[in-house]
Amino acid sequence: EAKRRGKNQVVVFKIHFLDIVSRRMQLEQALREALNEQELDIWFQPIIDARNGSVIGLEALSRWKLCSEFIPPDEFIGIAETSGMITKLGQQVFNKVGAALQELRIDYPELQCNVNLSLRQFRDSDLTKDIMQCIEKYQLPPSAMHLELTESMIAESESEILPTMQSLVNHGFKFHLDDFGTGYSSLERLKNLPFDTLKIDRSFVAPLGKNDHVMVKNIINIGHELGMNLIAEGVETEVEVNKLLQLGCHQIQGYYFARPMPLDALKVWMLDNQTQQLSAHTSTKNG
Ligand code: C2E
Ligand code: MG
Ligand code: MG
Ligand code: MG
Repeated sequence: EAKRRGKNQVVVFKIHFLDIVSRRMQLEQALREALNEQELDIWFQPIIDARNGSVIGLEALSRWKLCSEFIPPDEFIGIAETSGMITKLGQQVFNKVGAALQELRIDYPELQCNVNLSLRQFRDSDLTKDIMQCIEKYQLPPSAMHLELTESMIAESESEILPTMQSLVNHGFKFHLDDFGTGYSSLERLKNLPFDTLKIDRSFVAPLGKNDHVMVKNIINIGHELGMNLIAEGVETEVEVNKLLQLGCHQIQGYYFARPMPLDALKVWMLDNQTQQLSAHTSTKNG
């Protein structure tokens, strides 16, 4: 029985019985192996224009399944960062996203996808080179891949990030500021950084359900004043969608419209969404 299940089962057994530090060490070793075997997956979450249901783009989110258990990205991305593996992880992300986009853009020629970046990728690698190689390999324009940086990365290490960011902007890449509102970066600084879009953190969206919209309203106003596009993250209910639309934010990402999903499921979802839009269009014309 033990032999049939293979060595992965032993890893799970150990993880359940060791303390947090050991879990971390176990996961680090397992992650190293998973990266060597290219076992990590990318799931895609659509970003929707809530005014008409059309797809604005996707966000690529890493997924790691270790013996039938998904390890949360918030856990393994941190491990990859501190153990120096995030560059390798990031290169595999570029590669998988590039391949997926090349395929998807046959049917959806304008489709673009956001990729999350970590600080260590700016430190440890030639990020511009890695990204340029990816889009050349998959014959994509720079506009097909948007890059997400978190606000806390900017607050902590702006000077380290800015030169590479500028070089990528010069190549035609767009940057999104992720988790906006949580990172305490100064607005004065933000105004001078080449961001194209602010992603409003879910912690400001959730209170909309309790009729508390002061924070999100302020954030939307800031975004408009800075001349940036806005995407609301983590939108789960119709109430949230309607309030966001009223407040002037129509680009929406969240479980209400779609969860992150593997590429095959995404293809089905995209077709389905397209059909729904067509029928909505026809019914408004006819009625
Ligand atoms: P993020 O970039 O802010 O990604 C959005 C997170 O919100 C994702 O969590 C997504 O699954 C989740 N989400 C989306 N809609 C909803 C919703 O309606 N409700 C709720 N409760 N959650 C929603 P996930 O996939 O667990 O990723 C967590 C974080 O891990 C990401 O936050 C990102 O910072 C990081 N991450 C994920 N993949 C990568 C990667 O490939 N590279 C790097 N550097 N970081 C990554
Ligand atoms: Mg993100
Ligand atoms: Mg976010
Ligand atoms: Mg986040």
